[in-house]
Amino acid sequence: MPFASLGLNDQIVQTLASLDYTTPTTVQEQAIPAVLAGKDVMAAAQTGTGKTASFALPLLQRLARKTTPVGSNAARVLVLVPTRELAEQVHESFRTYGAGLALRTMVAYGGVSINPQMMNLRKGVDVLVATPGRLLDLHRQNALGLQLVETLVLDEADRMLDLGFSRELDQVFAALPKKRQTLLFSATFSDQIRAMANRLLREPVRIEAAPRNSTVKAIKQWLVTVDKKRKSELFLHLLERHDWPQVLAFCKTRKGVDELVALLDSKRISADSIHGDKPQPARLRALERFKAGDVRVLVATDVAARGLDIDHLPVVVNVDLPIVAEDYVHRTGRTGRAGASGEAVSLVCADEVEQLAAIEALTRQTLERVEENGFVPDHRVPVTQAGGQIVKKPKKPKKPKASAPVVTEDVRFRR
Ligand code: AMP
Repeated sequence: MPFASLGLNDQIVQTLASLDYTTPTTVQEQAIPAVLAGKDVMAAAQTGTGKTASFALPLLQRLARKTTPVGSNAARVLVLVPTRELAEQVHESFRTYGAGLALRTMVAYGGVSINPQMMNLRKGVDVLVATPGRLLDLHRQNALGLQLVETLVLDEADRMLDLGFSRELDQVFAALPKKRQTLLFSATFSDQIRAMANRLLREPVRIEAAPRNSTVKAIKQWLVTVDKKRKSELFLHLLERHDWPQVLAFCKTRKGVDELVALLDSKRISADSIHGDKPQPARLRALERFKAGDVRVLVATDVAARGLDIDHLPVVVNVDLPIVAEDYVHRTGRTGRAGASGEAVSLVCADEVEQLAAIEALTRQTLERVEENGFVPDHRVPVTQAGGQIVKKPKKPKKPKASAPVVTEDVRFRR
């Protein structure tokens, strides 16, 4: 199905052709006509499904039809996102897709000076992409009125709640006009998200881009069991053994990130990091270096797990499993994007068996286990089963025989 048949105009279709977008993705096919018709949308869509274009394209087209200029200190479309990185990325998408349209767009997030943002808002903007905290600051300082907002987009709504933005969001909702279009995108749908959707959306068009709470199918997922203290060593070993050209690695803590980067540096493997302690410009620079291929390993905490749009990333490694099972879906979503294949590898120690069981229950699968020669753990990781049960007591380690990775008996439980 071509883009034009979804109701997009020639100019936007041409821009898409210049970007080599030939066929709409599932979420685009369903969302674009609904958004063009002014309907509310509730979409289960994770990063990598083409969700950004699914709302940006139709909104840009509707904005381009407006004949009156936007009022000062106002925005017509407000896009709320959880992180600064995602804000930059979504804004960049609006700029790319809206090339040639005379529209004003802007991005606003915290951690940088508010004054330029206040100045920019004086003339008003067609599209404002913002994180909730900074948006409220701008609102409180009268730099931005919310009464003229025509469309509200909540992107990665689940992540905004995970990051504790619930109160800020309620304050924003209270300041918005009742009559408006609302589009809600979320990778996962907890009871809290559903309650929020029920409150905010009116007869929404429901869209499911991928099965709920599932990981992207094209991704090969497996885990290596290992003792906790040997995870970094195993990471280095796997990096070399598989000769992965680029890896996005996730650690639980900022300290863990820094330690792994220091180890990689000491081995002369180019690495950079993204975590909450780093100032925003340094985080963006690390991402840019990674995207440009200047850095082989980018190590991150979950702050970076969402929204990072990195083309052709072959491998994600969970050096630590995430505390929240949904984050596994988001982390692995960084690879295997736009139909490409990818690999997600988790280094799992005995302490993490509960987290593993939760991930397997959420994603309805049992991850294939591999034992790496020389790294067979002293503390065995109990066997798990899809559905989240831990089914066996740990066994004593056996001496490995072959030099190739050994797939343990646990694969019997795979479906
Ligand atoms: P998103 O899910 O919005 O983060 O988009 C994931 C990636 O897919 C981005 O790099 C987009 O540029 C790309 N993309 C989105 N829609 C299409 C399409 N219809 N054809 C090809 N690539 C696309």
